Amino acid sequence: MRVESVADRMEVNCEGCAGCCIDWRALLEESRGTGARGSMADDEARRDPVDADANFVPLTRDEIRTFLERGIGEALTPRFWHAADESEAVTIDGHEIAAVADRPVFFVGLRKPPKPVAPFGREAETWLPTCVFLDPTTLQCRIHGDDRFPDECGAYPAHNLALEQETECERVEAAFGGERLLEASVDGDPETLLLGSQALGGKLFCHPDPDRLEGTIERLAAGEPTREDRATCVAVAAASSPGTLAVSEHHREWARERLLGAQDETDEEATGEESADDAWVGPAIREWQRRYARADDEVPSAAVAVDVEEARGAPETPGWECLED
Ligand code: SF4
Repeated sequence: MRVESVADRMEVNCEGCAGCCIDWRALLEESRGTGARGSMADDEARRDPVDADANFVPLTRDEIRTFLERGIGEALTPRFWHAADESEAVTIDGHEIAAVADRPVFFVGLRKPPKPVAPFGREAETWLPTCVFLDPTTLQCRIHGDDRFPDECGAYPAHNLALEQETECERVEAAFGGERLLEASVDGDPETLLLGSQALGGKLFCHPDPDRLEGTIERLAAGEPTREDRATCVAVAAASSPGTLAVSEHHREWARERLLGAQDETDEEATGEESADDAWVGPAIREWQRRYARADDEVPSAAVAVDVEEARGAPETPGWECLED
């Protein structure tokens, strides 16, 4: 079956794949490296991310605010990079972190809790880091096409083609066969591709208080950021102004309140202004983490997502049958 990505009308074959929504490197004997999604593509310098996510989905400032307004800030996490050289580095937790004007720079993107998934025609499920919004049963996106659907996801894989980078579709083809990328070129730069100074404050954020990141960088490197670690960065991103280094203290406080105040600390139903439609996100992430931590060798069926996600209010996905040509 053929589908098109939303923003840039690339024709791709996504059925049974979701390779750009899952960190599937554990299925390979050795990693083939990471792609351009989630990389800092402002020049030729190579900067390795502090975290290990192979296909991080960066969001814009406005998308981050929408997520906060809708009560799904818990879906968000920051990404920092190791500096390419000393001239751009700030030292935090013993790491040389890429910075602009001595302010560590970062993206904010989507978390990937462990979920049991069986992509690429595999018969058995494997626990893999999987986008919070991916339905493990159908391998379809629960927010596809709605107002929370990230531009980056709609523009993929056109962004990689515009940057002359290998796409996740091609990596899946190389590893598992089949045809995934049905168009090999894109005309011009995708509208949503923010590069260089255009990205500053709009998609690439600068943290004004490097001291507040002590401990955070180490925990991000270990894959164990705390709620406070995520909140301090997401709040700065939500309070940033495109094209500048400015951070609005009013919006920063508002964002922190949305992340740490109004949201529930437990797995009880969400409270405050949080939308009942979106209250499933945080509890579902924590439930996946609990199930993974106590898992034995037997990986559960992806169908347990009905209990973990849909029973908490996650929107269902249509399946592929009704999308057939
Ligand atoms: S938001 Fe949807 S399309 Fe984007 S990575 Fe997550 S599951 Fe995939």
